[in-house]
Amino acid sequence: RIAYVNGRYVPHSEASVHVEDRGFQFADGVYEVVAVYKGQLIDEKGHLDRLERSLSELQIAMPMARAALAQVLRRMVRVNLVRDGLVYFQVTRGVAPRDFPFPYAAMPTIVVTARSKAFPGRDVKPVTVITTPDQRWARRDIKTVGLLPAALAKQKARQAKAFEAWQVDADGYVTEGASSNAWIVTKDNVIVTRQADHNILRGITRMAILEFARENGFRFEERPFTVEEAQNAREAFVSSASTFVMPVWKIDNVAISNGEMGPVAKTLRDAYFDAMEQLADA
Ligand code: PMP
Repeated sequence: RIAYVNGRYVPHSEASVHVEDRGFQFADGVYEVVAVYKGQLIDEKGHLDRLERSLSELQIAMPMARAALAQVLRRMVRVNLVRDGLVYFQVTRGVAPRDFPFPYAAMPTIVVTARSKAFPGRDVKPVTVITTPDQRWARRDIKTVGLLPAALAKQKARQAKAFEAWQVDADGYVTEGASSNAWIVTKDNVIVTRQADHNILRGITRMAILEFARENGFRFEERPFTVEEAQNAREAFVSSASTFVMPVWKIDNVAISNGEMGPVAKTLRDAYFDAMEQLADA
C-alpha cells in the first residue's frame, strides 16, 4: 500500500508526520472520507467543498490547489488498486513548537490514504443503534480530527453489539450518529433529519439523500426528533459516505420493525446505488 504525505507517495508502513504536528498535539486539523465505488470517487465535489469550508473555519490554508488535490485522490485510488473502498485525507495546521496559539509560519500537513473495502450491496440487513449523551464540542459542523467523544461513543456501541451510537443533546433530541447522520420516517410518512446548523456535520450523503427524497416526491422535514419519537417511527436509518443509507431496526433495544429494510430506506438506498452506477458507467 501507498500513502501520500506532503507531496510524496511513500510505502504505507513508512508514512509518518512529525511528533510536533499540531494534528497530533491539538487535534488541530480536519479530514474527509470519500467512498470509491467501481473505481470512482463518490460525491467528490461535495467532500472537497466541505474540506475547504472546514479549513476556512479554522483559518488553515488549502495545502495545494483543489485540482491538484483531486489528482492526488485519483492517483491514490489507482496506485492502491482500489475498486471499492475509501479514501481518507487529512489536513492539519502543520508542525511547530508546541504552543496553543497558531504558529506564525507553518506549512499545513496533508496526508492521504486509500484502502479497499467491500460495501454491503443494495439489500442490506438493518442494524441496531444505541443512544449516548452528545459530549462533543459546539462546532460539530467542522469536520475536525478531534474525534475522542465519537470514539468513546463508538466503543460503547461496539460493547452493546450495536452499529452506531446516536448522540443525544441536553434537551433529549438526537443530533446525529457518532459517524453518520440520523433519520426517521414518521408514521404519516414524513422523512425527518436534523437541520444542518452548528450541532451536526452537514453530511454529503445527507445532502444527496434529501435530493433523492425530493425527486421521489417524499415529504421531509429538517428538524430535531427525540429518542422516543424515533422509537415510535415507522422507519429509521443512518447515512454516511461509507454506509450510504443504512436501515436501523432497533433503537436502545426497542424494535421499530421486524428486522427488514423499510420501503423508504430501500428507495433511497437504491437511488444512491443508481447514482453510483451512473457515475461508474459514464
Ligand atoms: N456526522 C458525523 C459526525 C460524521 O462523522 C459523518 C461521517 N464523516 C457524518 C455525519 C456523515 O457525513 P458524510 O455523509 O459526509 O460521510
